[in-house]
Amino acid sequence: MSVSKIEIERRMRRFEEACRSHGLKLTHQRRQVFRALAATDQHPSAEALYNCVRRRVPTVSLDTIYRTLNTLEEKGIIQKAAVYCGKTRYDANVEQHFHFVCRECNAVIDVSCAATPGVTIPPEVRKLGTVCSCMVQIEGTCRKCRALKTADC
Ligand SMILES: [Zn+2]
Ligand SMILES: [Zn+2]
Repeated sequence: MSVSKIEIERRMRRFEEACRSHGLKLTHQRRQVFRALAATDQHPSAEALYNCVRRRVPTVSLDTIYRTLNTLEEKGIIQKAAVYCGKTRYDANVEQHFHFVCRECNAVIDVSCAATPGVTIPPEVRKLGTVCSCMVQIEGTCRKCRALKTADC
């Protein structure tokens, strides 16, 4: 699955508006970093984005990518995909959704909210403090890996 042109443009417009309202300069590098992230639903790591942006902006450094991602994340323009599979992965989709993580290949796939499994927070948690979020990570073997596995045997 890839992100449609219409969706990329929608994300770019939202990005430009968000930068303006946060007083962030719309630099060429910021735009390129965001565009690279907005154009994929693969939840890339900073390194993966670096490899992608470098093709368009040969002078960009990994450090710049990290700094840009941090700034955009602080402003809520992008988010860290809250997944536990090693490296930090980033997400231009800031609408509420869940992630399916493949244990074989670490693919991170969006799951729309309609398919959300219900989670009941145990009442005793209240004794521990205030809950501000509860994350659900769905893990398994993605279709591609499953096909590879069945081909093996
Ligand atoms: Zn997989
Ligand atoms: Zn996502």
